[in-house]
Amino acid sequence: NDRIISANLMMEDSVIEYSLRPRYLAEYIGQQQAKENLKVYIEAAKMRKEALDHVLLYGPPGLGKTTLSNIIANELGVNIRTTSGPAIERPGDLAAILTNLQEGDVLFIDEIHRLHRTVEEVLYPAMEDYALDIIIGKGPSARSVRLDLPAFTLVGATTRVGLLSAPLRDRFGVVSRLEFYTVDELTYIVSRTADILQVGIVGEAAREIGMRSRGTPRIANRLLKRVRDFAQVKGDGIITVDIAKIALKLIQVDDLGLDEIDHKMLRAIIQSFQGGPVGLETIAATIGEEGQTIEDVYEPYLLQIGFLQRTPRGRMVTPLAYQHLGLPMPEPK
Ligand code: ADP
Repeated sequence: NDRIISANLMMEDSVIEYSLRPRYLAEYIGQQQAKENLKVYIEAAKMRKEALDHVLLYGPPGLGKTTLSNIIANELGVNIRTTSGPAIERPGDLAAILTNLQEGDVLFIDEIHRLHRTVEEVLYPAMEDYALDIIIGKGPSARSVRLDLPAFTLVGATTRVGLLSAPLRDRFGVVSRLEFYTVDELTYIVSRTADILQVGIVGEAAREIGMRSRGTPRIANRLLKRVRDFAQVKGDGIITVDIAKIALKLIQVDDLGLDEIDHKMLRAIIQSFQGGPVGLETIAATIGEEGQTIEDVYEPYLLQIGFLQRTPRGRMVTPLAYQHLGLPMPEPK
């Protein structure tokens, strides 16, 4: 039996992304550094019966920030309230959320770099003193009243830590950067997800998917689901290496996990700009994508595998990328 059997997890009634989320730190694969630190802080907070210090999680999308925030609440044995930066439109919206928290609760704010400035200002005293400053009245008779809030833990997540204002960043006691996952870790995640989805997969096929997941669990799970469809229609339901390879080729994910957009972008830089350097917005306009999407979603992995370099004058394609695309390097000038 060459199928990798991973942790025994109960089959959920409906298989939604939620059911794939690990619930406890022990089930959360990889991110050793972040995990070990959090484990200590969580334990200490529980021993002191205090709220955990505020936590900032940052890194590219799909690496497990939301999952980890839910785990933090679970491990603390408290409720989690989830929202996102752009969803909180007015200071009053945040005040309402804060006053409804219970002692020790986790408030998770995704995309925290997108908080409105006026909302962010409400957060400062809330984070620092568990207090809400409310202005009553207008003009010369206006005065400020301070309301106590329950002690809570803010968990902020962002793909763009550089866009966070300094006063906000400074109010987080724990700052963790999530890293891309290794192929071994992703292989394990694929096997684990296959178990939950009750689909048979051979170890080598799990690895094939892991290798092509751009270091990202969300992509690993997504690829697995699509490969599963092929296995059901073209095979007998079991995901073999052959099935995985054929399926991945059809969905246009190459052996390093690059898709059409990565290829289009690298080729554009090579063919239209002699390999760069070229500015992000110029690349974006050339291939018809948003600069922000390129920066958040596509570029981090290409930088990680050394296909792209950021220079003060823009992005440059490296010899590794030429090799991978099978394109000749230009003659040095
Ligand atoms: P983010 O919030 O960083 O965009 P998520 O927390 O939504 O990422 O993770 C995306 C998916 O990847 C989750 O549904 C979960 O199933 C899976 N995942 C993330 N991190 C892990 C991990 N460490 N171990 C197992 N699965 C993970």
